[in-house]
Order: sequence, then structure tokens, then C-alpha cells
Amino acid sequence: MTLGKVKAQHLIRDLSLDSKEILLELEAICAHRGARVRYAPQRTSEAMLLVFNGRGIITINSHEPYVTRQRFSIAHELGHFEMHKEQRNSFYCDKKDMIRWSTVSGHHLEIEANEFAAELLMPDMLFRPEAIRRKPSMAEVENLASEFSVSLSAAARRYIDTTDEACALVFFSKNKTEYSLKSKAFSELNYWISSGTLDQFSEAYRSSHGQKTANYMTSVDANCWIEDLPRYLQEETLLEEARYFPQIELGLTLLWIKNGPLLRY
Ligand SMILES: [Zn+2]
Repeated sequence: MTLGKVKAQHLIRDLSLDSKEILLELEAICAHRGARVRYAPQRTSEAMLLVFNGRGIITINSHEPYVTRQRFSIAHELGHFEMHKEQRNSFYCDKKDMIRWSTVSGHHLEIEANEFAAELLMPDMLFRPEAIRRKPSMAEVENLASEFSVSLSAAARRYIDTTDEACALVFFSKNKTEYSLKSKAFSELNYWISSGTLDQFSEAYRSSHGQKTANYMTSVDANCWIEDLPRYLQEETLLEEARYFPQIELGLTLLWIKNGPLLRY
């Protein structure tokens, strides 16, 4: 388990944060730990943390229109405060910092702060039972995002980490795959998810090209998403449900191998 996750779990236990309702009171949680939250316009950063004599001031960009992003930023800065204040007394974090998860590019403090934020906003003990009792679908991920007051991408990422089903989450732009995440069960199948250009028969392609898509998991050819399938699996299908956001020209799609020969590869 990562340091960010461990630290968040300690905090959750210490403060008995055992319901979704308590987690909505992020500012009170910060105040209790010694960090005050304020809102002010920011030019380049989404959020910052200043530390004076062991106490913190977290400033959140008041121009950010989405409350869910502001909440993630607060939790991220609280993560810096809990874990990193001995190393530095100021943190200026931009939008990119809030989506850093891969250790490949360095930035380990940002990754730790994100892992802390994800665990604080969606604690395993609350999120896991909710995720496991629902069948995989984008609609259910949207419900989870709403219940935990987090963004769709944060909830989807957490869902993939949690589900026992063979699911994958693919982030895409208008024409191509950006990156993908696999659930444990999907990873064990050793399939290679297509990178590069979107297949025109995928729901992701349809949604990003203004075509009609289903608001539920729908069958698509497995070939749309899995590379180098052996011949006897070429006709198989999997389930997919996509969401595309034209304003930012990004989307995410959920894949699910529900049953059949693809699971026995
Ligand atoms: Zn940061």
C-alpha cells in the first residue's frame, strides 16, 4: 500500500470518518488538523499550501467551476500538509499535479498527495462495498461520483482499482486512446488494450463523433479494444459504455468482459 493511502487511512481512523456525510465536511477536517481553507482567484495554480509555524493555509482557486475539483484540491493540499510539511513550507499545485499518478515522470510528492486525496474522499471501507455490489457500468460510476462528491474520472479510477470484475477504463481524446487502466481481473487475462486510433465501431469513437451511443453497457466487438486476439476469439464481444466531454475534447469509456471464452483465455 502506498504512503498516501496509509496516511489517509490513519487520518480516517483517528477522526472516525465513517460516513459519506462526514467526508463532505472537508474544511472542518482540515481545521481540526491545523490547516485553514480559503478561496481566492489563482492565476497559475489550482491550489496552494503555505505552512507557518506548523499551521497551514490552503488556498483554493475560486475560479474553478467544479466543486468536485475543489474538493479534490483541498484533499490534495491536506495530503501535502500531513506528509510533506517538514520538507517544504510552500506548495503551488496546478491542474497537471492533480492528475499525476505515474511514478515514471517523477513528481513523487504530487503522486503521494493524489493517493492521499483519493483515499480520503473515497475511503476503502466505504467505497469498496458500494462498488462491489453494483454491476459495472458508467451509469453506476456516475452514481458513485455523485454520492462521494468527486469527479467522474476520480470515481472511475477508484472503481477500476476496486472491482472484482474484468474491467478496464480507457481515457481517450477525439480520435485516439490516451491511456488505459485495468482491474486486477482484467490484468490477469494478459490482453493488450489497443492504443492509437479509436476503432470506428467502438462506443468511444461514436461518442466523440456525435453519433448515438447507449446509456448502458452495450456489446462491441472485442477486436475494437483488444489487440492480437487469437483467431478463435475474433468474433467475441465485450461490453462498453462511453462518456465524452466535447468542451475538453476528452472522454472515458468502461470495458467489461462479463463472461464467455474471453474470460478463459
Ligand atoms: Zn500538490
